[in-house]
Amino acid sequence: METKTGNIIIEKIKESKITKVDFSNLPFGKVYSDHMLVCDYKDGAWQAPRIMPYGPVSLDPSAKIFHYGQSVFEGMKAYKDAEGRAWLFRPEENQKRLNISSKRISIPELPKEIFMEGLTTLLKLEKDWIPTTPGSSLYVRPFIFASGSGLHASPADQYKFFIVCAPSGPYFAGKIKVLIEEKYSRAANGGVGYAKAGGNYAGQFYPTQLAQDKGYQQVIWTDDNTHEYIEEAGAMNIFVRINDTLMTSPVSDRILDGVTRKSVIDIAKAEGIPVEIRKIRVEELISASKNGSLKEMFGAGTAAVISPVSGFGHRESDYSLPELENSYAALLKKRITDIQYNKAEDPFGWRFQVG
Ligand SMILES: *Cc1c(COP(=O)(O)O)cnc(C)c1O
Repeated sequence: METKTGNIIIEKIKESKITKVDFSNLPFGKVYSDHMLVCDYKDGAWQAPRIMPYGPVSLDPSAKIFHYGQSVFEGMKAYKDAEGRAWLFRPEENQKRLNISSKRISIPELPKEIFMEGLTTLLKLEKDWIPTTPGSSLYVRPFIFASGSGLHASPADQYKFFIVCAPSGPYFAGKIKVLIEEKYSRAANGGVGYAKAGGNYAGQFYPTQLAQDKGYQQVIWTDDNTHEYIEEAGAMNIFVRINDTLMTSPVSDRILDGVTRKSVIDIAKAEGIPVEIRKIRVEELISASKNGSLKEMFGAGTAAVISPVSGFGHRESDYSLPELENSYAALLKKRITDIQYNKAEDPFGWRFQVG
């Protein structure tokens, strides 16, 4: 049976899968909710979006996504508060960034109304799928890929926009150890590093696997030219604390402009923490580690929120970070998640109610 909400046709699932899910023991991004949003681009325009039961997609083997990798995505979370209301965090930032990414990969920009109306209508329908166990949320994945076919190496004439939802537990359990990478690069000047493009991840898997084989969980990418400056962690922006100053690299065409990153900067400033946005030399980290002024390092991104680093490797050496009583990471994580879960005032106006 089909119904219509606003501009969106909704076909509901016959029987919900929700009773089969163990909400007290959720993995990250492996269990999917009942419905998904789908919108097609064809004949030069984005068509009316539809919501339908979550399920497989059928594509021509010559669809350009398979050959030329035209795909972009976003990552967001929906949270439920103690009164059962559903919230998003700065969704318009994701909407804008999806189009920034699309433009770089020659994917036609998606109208803001389709993104926002699609997102809110889907989340209203999937509200029961937002978990309430601490540290969990409904991970929301909007993405676009080239569905139009043709083996000619040129942009496709058809695309599909989807939003799928996955009730999820924490991304990392505990602190992570990172390896400062000097051989491989994630992004280059003039490249696509600033876009949330699928191919950026494909290129990271192999070097990350090599780092994992050595006992690290993540790679810290350095600049592709000199490998002297740390850039980001591949799915997280990176922050370091030297003495009491919090630092992070400026964004560039090699570094993704994270929503968590910019929120952390604003919260830290509001807390009176000195913040410096500048290039950070690997040498500076190593000497700060040796003289004891390197207090903290953490990653910041939607999936992992704030992920403290226990130590880093560089060449053949390992450097460990101290255990702090009052870490910036813990304070900033509390402040940002309190806003996200509607447990505190939101002086920045970042929370967005969906139902
Ligand atoms: C998504 C992502 C981040 C984090 O961005 P958020 O908006 O905070 O989730 C950082 N780096 C890369 C490469 C990413 O893809």
